[in-house]
Formats: sequence, C-alpha cells, structure tokens
Amino acid sequence: MPANTEELHIPAGINYDCQGCGICCSGWSVNMTKEDYERVSSVDWGALKPEYKRKMFRELKPTERAGTNYTHRIVNAPGEDTCPFLQDKLCFIHGQKGGPFKPTICQQFPYNFTPTPSGIYATVSFVSMAVLYNQGTPLVDQRETLEKKLADFRYLHPQYQPDWSKIQLSVEQPITWDQYLVHEAALMERLSDKSVSVTDRLRNCCDYLQEQVAKTPRGAAAGAATKPADSASAATSATATSLSTLNKLDKHLLSTFHKMYFPRRAHRIPFNNIKFWLGVWFNSSTVFEFTSEFYAIDQLKEFPFPENDPQIEDMLFRYVYSMIFGKKYFGAGFGHLSLVTGFHHLVLAYTLARLHARGLAKQRQAPIVSLIDMVATLKQLETQMGELMIGPYAASTLELLLQSPARAKRLLTIA
Ligand code: SF4
Repeated sequence: MPANTEELHIPAGINYDCQGCGICCSGWSVNMTKEDYERVSSVDWGALKPEYKRKMFRELKPTERAGTNYTHRIVNAPGEDTCPFLQDKLCFIHGQKGGPFKPTICQQFPYNFTPTPSGIYATVSFVSMAVLYNQGTPLVDQRETLEKKLADFRYLHPQYQPDWSKIQLSVEQPITWDQYLVHEAALMERLSDKSVSVTDRLRNCCDYLQEQVAKTPRGAAAGAATKPADSASAATSATATSLSTLNKLDKHLLSTFHKMYFPRRAHRIPFNNIKFWLGVWFNSSTVFEFTSEFYAIDQLKEFPFPENDPQIEDMLFRYVYSMIFGKKYFGAGFGHLSLVTGFHHLVLAYTLARLHARGLAKQRQAPIVSLIDMVATLKQLETQMGELMIGPYAASTLELLLQSPARAKRLLTIA
C-alpha cells in the first residue's frame, strides 16, 4: 500500500504548552504575511504607548521573502534583539487584541513540520523554554492543535517541499525512503535504551551505522538494511585502538563548530562562505571562546559533568530524539548530507553542547554543570542551527570531515 504523504506523525514523550515566560520573543525576526501586516498595522500603537511612536514595521527585501508568504517584519528598537511588543514578559498585541490578532508566526511557534514520503513529522523547537523543560500537554494529545498549526505552517511556507528522492546511507550508497525508515527504527531503538547513558546510546548508533556501511556496496543501489551482527564487527574492532584520544583535526573541528554554534555575539552562520571553510583547514585553534573567558578543550573535558542527572539526560535524549524524529539531521532536512555524515554531525553537536555547558558552569564558577547550563546551551544551539544554510560546497566538505565513525566515537569519549 503506498505511504500516506499527508499522515501527521507526532512524537511520543514530548510535551508543550506556552508557560508565558516571554523568552521566546527574543533573538529572532518577527516576520508577517500581508494579512498579518494589514491587521497588526491597522492599530495606532503609538496612541496606546508612546514608545511605539516610531517606525514599527518594514517591508522585507526579496531575498528575505524567498519561498515564504512573508511580506513585512516588526522592527526592533535600536540595539535590541527582543520584539518591541514584549512588555513585562507579556505580548502587548495579545493583551490588547487577543491571541489570534498576533502575527501568524507567533501563533505557530514553536511547532515545526517536515513533509516526507511517509507523511508529515511534527516537532517543537528547543528554543522554547517550555520545550526544554518538557512542560505542558503531551504532543500526542494535541492532534487537533497540531493540525491547525500545520495548516498555518503550510500557509506560511507554501513552497516548502523537501526533496527526499536522493538520500544516501553514506557517500555513493543510495538508499530508498523505506530503507531509511528501517535504519531510523534501528537508531531509535538504540537511542531509547534507557539502561545506558545517552552518550553510550549514541555510540551504539554509530556502531550500527558503521556496520550498515560495511555491508552496503558502493555505487549501486543499496540493498535492504540488514540486521547488525551479534558480535562486534570487524570494522568496529579495527578502529577500536584509535578511539581513545582526540587528534588535532578533531579538536580543531570542535573549536570551529563552537565558534559557529556558540558565537560570542549572535550572527548568521557563514557556512557557505569559502573563506570560512579555508579557515577550518588553516586555523589551528583548539580553544572555546566564551563571553569573558577562553577555555582549552582539554581543560573543559576535565570539568565535572553530572553523569547521572535524570533531568539533563532526559533533555539531551529529547533533543537528539526530536532531531531524528523530525528528520532534521540529514538529507533534505539538513544540507542533503548522507545519513551517516548527518548522524555524525549530530554527535558533534551533542559533544559541543556538553563541552559548552561545562564552559558556562566554569565561567560562573560553579563546581559542576547544572540544568541551567544545559538549558542555555541547547537553546543557543537550536537557535544557531536554525539559521544554517548549507550549500553544496559546505555539504561536500562536511562529508569529507565527518564521515569517519572513528572520529564520531572519539568525539563521544570527551562528551
Ligand atoms: S508579537 Fe507578541 S508573541 Fe510575537 S514576538 Fe512580539 S511579543 Fe512575542
């Protein structure tokens, strides 16, 4: 029976309801459709609040509109990155006119949708504090809301139709969507094994993918995904000796990606910029930069991390699980990377997150990482990765740098 491309898939174990903290209204541009703009700008906001007696909206440039129904944007006050309508943690538009009067993008946040050949996969953004803390109603009990949000999403992004027709297990190992789903089920099974740490679960996923790559011929269409061998594979043991110590390029990659995903000041990631990638090759920095300090990777990895903290473990698990469920780590979901490279990039992001949280704790002179360090870290990671645009040059460089299972497993040794 052909797959239902319209079926809405909802992740289990993920909760969300707005907690009214107002934190989501910072750090991003509030775009509006023509209808939003006409509705919101019809109000004389300056008559209600003197600070709104200025230019509050601007038209979007053609490049800012591309592929969307947005036409205008709310203009922040000079030097501010918080929406000007946020007052005392509450939305002034909502307070004056009600929730449905707000821009559609605000009503839709933090829900996200990925269309695929087997249906539409719903996720929620980890930029939201309620999502980070898993607060509210389980998404599986919000089907009606999600269907309405999906309609909004389609209206906002009418041309968003990811192309999943050329996915690969690894370079020159094409797979079909059905074969991908078998691999995804295997990854999810390993990721959900709560008898071991999230780091060990990721290591088990790397082993699974390594075994699948070894079994799949290059160049020709790949065969069906096969069950992993019961005993450790030859490939795994061949690389075991090189798994314990990071090499210079591993550290260099970590420090470069740290600059992108955790910049000292928020900026658009220069992922497609050739100068950036030349920098990756020729800059040999192995330190992480924080607001007021620089820490070497070797220093950070020694900083105490609470290995058995159930809240931190659960947050990290939900983050990785959501990335995989939402297909936001490979193929059309992430720069058209192969499944293996996309997964290894996820491992790199996970390692960076755990190191960055250590840096935050160290900076505030705490003796050990705590939940707030992890919350701040994942929020920033999600924000920056959401800004990412990966062109073909960047994608092939990533394939080169991150295809190696040995590298992914080395990164996990310091996570
Ligand atoms: S319009 Fe309201 S909900 Fe939207 S970002 Fe601004 S304050 Fe937040």
